Amino acid sequence: MKYEAVIGLEIHVQLNCATKMFCDCRNSPGDPPNSNICPICLGIPGTLKQFGREALEKAVLSCLALNCEIQPESAFDQKVYYYPDLPRGYQLFQFHRPLGRNGWLEITAEDGGWKRLRGREAHMEEDVARLVHESDSRRRFSLVDFNRAGAPLVEIVTEPDMRGPQDAMEFLRTLRVCLRYAGTAECSLEEGTMRVDANISVRPEGSTGLSTKVEVKNMNSIRHVGNAIAHEIARQTALVEEGKEVTLHTRLWDPDRNVTTPMRGKFAGPCVPDPSVPAITVSPEFLDELRARLPEMPAVRRRGFEERHGLTPEEAALMSSERELAEYFEAVVAGGSSPRAAVDWITGRLLPLLRDRGESLASTRVTPARLAALLELVERREISAGAGKEVLTRMLESDLDPAAIVVREGLAQVSDRETLETVADTVIANNPDAVKDYHAGKKPALGFLVGRAMKASGGKADPKKMRSLLEEKLGSSGD
Ligand SMILES: [Zn+2]
Repeated sequence: MKYEAVIGLEIHVQLNCATKMFCDCRNSPGDPPNSNICPICLGIPGTLKQFGREALEKAVLSCLALNCEIQPESAFDQKVYYYPDLPRGYQLFQFHRPLGRNGWLEITAEDGGWKRLRGREAHMEEDVARLVHESDSRRRFSLVDFNRAGAPLVEIVTEPDMRGPQDAMEFLRTLRVCLRYAGTAECSLEEGTMRVDANISVRPEGSTGLSTKVEVKNMNSIRHVGNAIAHEIARQTALVEEGKEVTLHTRLWDPDRNVTTPMRGKFAGPCVPDPSVPAITVSPEFLDELRARLPEMPAVRRRGFEERHGLTPEEAALMSSERELAEYFEAVVAGGSSPRAAVDWITGRLLPLLRDRGESLASTRVTPARLAALLELVERREISAGAGKEVLTRMLESDLDPAAIVVREGLAQVSDRETLETVADTVIANNPDAVKDYHAGKKPALGFLVGRAMKASGGKADPKKMRSLLEEKLGSSGD
């Protein structure tokens, strides 16, 4: 019998708000421990929580990026449990009435096509404190850092639509790109701004029922998520094949040993409606305003790049992978460049230069308009591609027009016949062997002579004109 996996994800995403969800403390968990705290996020009795507008805006934008239906009214509940990371004794999150329902994302399937994966809901949640376990020569102890307590989160719960590690990894990549486009979250598993739990079960292929699932935690990169799921599928399949039962429990991924191990579950208490934070209302006007703020999403852009600009699927995926890059590319094309030249120059030349200098598309002096102006000079063959590279390097350090840089550096392409003839004559005179080869029918000799001529002109000669001029001067090639 063959088995298939059924996988659903629960993804916590930290919103990049300036402040925490219910107080004005800085939302910057990485700061020195306990530097961003106040009586509210410490959970001291008698304090009044104040729900922030920025958290709501970013939560709604995130839901829209996931194609969720935004609920006109949602509300917070108290998840009751006691643990040192939560001295208040309950965590605020939306259990009964979440903000978003029924979302979906389209991912690239393994056959290269598209596959739609459904989200069940997306709800707001406050983060809890972080525990740091340490020890010295005498004892072991735990420290509590409250910087993270009250940080604004959105938890996305998917339907169990995924069938293997690839689906899950591709979903997370797509989610990350979408939320970065929306400008609401960084979504880094490595840095803890995204946390993923995977619910995994296996069933006989072709059946539609759901078997007992196991939850796996503690994956610190998208690759780990894939490895943990692959391992867990193999483990459960082996159990089922031996006629043993899979039991409901939680496991931890151990990346060093490449296995999952059982963990003790936290005590989960009841969820009761919270009386202190009023219900959240999202009016149609507010929703329209936020919808208008959302940029065109990556999947739409990507298709547009293929259909409108004739990019290959790989190029379109690359150019739409970050909002900044996609918008830069579109602006260069809007400035008059051919999409082909724009892709080549941005990915092949500009980005590597920026990487070396530790700059970004947002900070560089090479604005889309200036790059478009440079590419126009190259396309009109006023400068050679080699000279274009030279100009681009200068543009990183000056605000001069590309055309002005060409003049200042004397990089204009030489195409007047008299100058080219002088160069061609010299090259023919100095390379008698190559000339002899050419007359004997050895075609590559011409390329060699063109190369010599380009070098002699300091890279400024128009290579096409130089080639035809040499052919003309050399006469028949002997074949
Ligand atoms: Zn606070």
